[in-house]
Amino acid sequence: MEYLTFPLFITWNITSNCNLRCKHCFRSEYEYDMLNKKKINKFIDLFITKQVNGIILTGGEPLKSKHLFYILKKNNKRLKIGIATNGTLLTEEIIHKLLKHGVKDFQISLDGASAPINDYVRGNGVFDRVVTNIKILKKYNCHITLAMTVNSFNYNDILENSLNLVNKLGINKLRIEYYIPINKNEYFEPITNTEMIKLYNKLETNNKNRILIQLPKFDIRYGCGAGIYNCILNSDLTISPCDLLTHKYKSKRINNIDLFQKFWNEDEAFLKWRNELKCFTCKEKFKCLAFKEVKDD
Ligand code: SF4
Ligand code: SF4
Repeated sequence: MEYLTFPLFITWNITSNCNLRCKHCFRSEYEYDMLNKKKINKFIDLFITKQVNGIILTGGEPLKSKHLFYILKKNNKRLKIGIATNGTLLTEEIIHKLLKHGVKDFQISLDGASAPINDYVRGNGVFDRVVTNIKILKKYNCHITLAMTVNSFNYNDILENSLNLVNKLGINKLRIEYYIPINKNEYFEPITNTEMIKLYNKLETNNKNRILIQLPKFDIRYGCGAGIYNCILNSDLTISPCDLLTHKYKSKRINNIDLFQKFWNEDEAFLKWRNELKCFTCKEKFKCLAFKEVKDD
């Protein structure tokens, strides 16, 4: 399996702290934060030296991290940084501050195209708050990716109504994720690959505004970049190829910055991941490895 010797894109979980408790959340703890200014300086310097193409700051909820604005200040607009957030803690003032630091790319999560469906998964009042904040972001011409995690409960709503919502809000990209039952819950089940393909076909057929639609591993041009050119830097300072599978593929802790590249290339978790991808690229190449872990048609 060919891969880059240093990742091109890094998803940096700067905290595991979060103000929500979504029903599908795979986190088992919400207080992990091992960063400090010294470590942040070293990571940013390394990523700049290695010419990383893009960083997504996420969590948990990145706006709950006391380091968010320090990271942006240290970066000083050198690396392209986007934010993946649950969207509830944004305010016009925070958006101004983020824009000042060069952040214009936002990934925001909703797990339904209407308040009752989304709020069942993510909590009361979340849909309206997030929609309000998306409207503010649009006022400032931000690029917005709407991320939706599909499960048996919200499948029909997303199938029927997500494009309307996306068009109404002026969303730039719709990203669909599988619900992976890592922490099993009694509220819903994962969908099948057949249902995912039906969803994909419906969205593509009705995509009159030609917005970008991204599905897990359905992008045959690039496939899934996990462990190939994408890396997750976890809040406990380990690294993983895919954030949904950190329980299974996680390096040892990076106590010294030189270990970042060493672990990316040599840690057992990454060797195992790439080896599994190799067996996965022929007839099953359209499927997501995370989804394959837990369910299949
Ligand atoms: S917003 Fe994200 S981290 Fe927070 S509870 Fe929901 S899924 Fe978990
Ligand atoms: S394995 Fe699936 S969930 Fe993980 S990064 Fe790839 S497409 Fe995404």
